[in-house]
Amino acid sequence: MNYPKLIIKPNIIEENVKSIVSLCSKNNIKVAGVTKGVCANKEIVKAYISGGVEYLADSRIENLINLKEYDIPKMMLRLPMISEVDLIVQYANISLNSELDTVKALSKAALNKNIAHKIILMLDLGDLREGIFDKKDIYKFIEEVLELPCIELIGIGTNLTCFGGLIPDTKILDQLGVISTSIENKYNLNIDIISGGNSSTIYLLSNGNHLQINNLRLGESLLLGKETSYGTQIKGTRDDGFLLQTEIIEIKKKPTVPIGNIGVDAFGKKPCFEDKGIRKKILCAIGKQDVKIDSLTPIDSDLNILGGSSDHLIIDGDDSTKDYKVGDILEFKLGYGGVLSAMTSNYVKKLIIE
Ligand SMILES: *Cc1c(COP(=O)(O)O)cnc(C)c1O
Repeated sequence: MNYPKLIIKPNIIEENVKSIVSLCSKNNIKVAGVTKGVCANKEIVKAYISGGVEYLADSRIENLINLKEYDIPKMMLRLPMISEVDLIVQYANISLNSELDTVKALSKAALNKNIAHKIILMLDLGDLREGIFDKKDIYKFIEEVLELPCIELIGIGTNLTCFGGLIPDTKILDQLGVISTSIENKYNLNIDIISGGNSSTIYLLSNGNHLQINNLRLGESLLLGKETSYGTQIKGTRDDGFLLQTEIIEIKKKPTVPIGNIGVDAFGKKPCFEDKGIRKKILCAIGKQDVKIDSLTPIDSDLNILGGSSDHLIIDGDDSTKDYKVGDILEFKLGYGGVLSAMTSNYVKKLIIE
């Protein structure tokens, strides 16, 4: 039972981290290495740390708990649930917040345990996921937070692109600089961290812009070297730190269009088929329960992925010059969704290669 298998090469990821940390530090930006896409896998976390990230960041407290042995500040990325505040203050040094009730609960939990908890106030600059949207609400929030014991407001931040697809630009990010200065002046405090988003902000650095931010929370760019606004490869990085191997379980000549009336597939979608006649179809033992199929790119570029069901991947192998046999292994590169899903699936074996 060796397949499906995800091959992980931490050395490649470490090189990616070094290149990106260096690009960021030229712009006075510190990097929080986001581990959620790899379920906080420790070999990858070690690559992040030796590559030079300043923080480890994750959306799930389970992952941060797992990382407690690493002596580096931890950041909770998803707004905390009130039901988990005890764990947050214990295992995260910093959390991103936008709700006063949650920060009050964090304060109570931190006071109970007698620890200081740092928060970054999230602002919604138009992507419409988390963050205070109405700028008037910022000051009321801060005034209440400043009264709370064991809570330290250390920064402001925003998240872009993830929900609304909003591409960062200097005009959007400059708002953070303006707001930060106005908070500092009004309350006579230091806003140490201005966190300007995720991997979608990187392209602005490559373009030589001066940004009013000093922190980025990066996942996809470190893992795959991709900036996510335009999907281009960042200089000095590679996208082959992960490789998926699957085993062929059937090879047969079959028509390209199903025979009979077509209803909906196993996932409720009505499939469409282009009639290309009889083709060599290859079936692999991996499916949507394991990996995001549309995130896979076959290494043999003459293979064409037709689709998948929960446990099967269906490939048109007719254009390939290779003479595949049942039991052979096919290899694929993965996009971010592919890495995230394969890392999360218990059915996909993980093999670290140094
Ligand atoms: C996931 C996440 C990130 C990292 O996003 P990438 O596109 O992988 O760099 C950053 N910030 C927050 C709040 C996130 O949830």
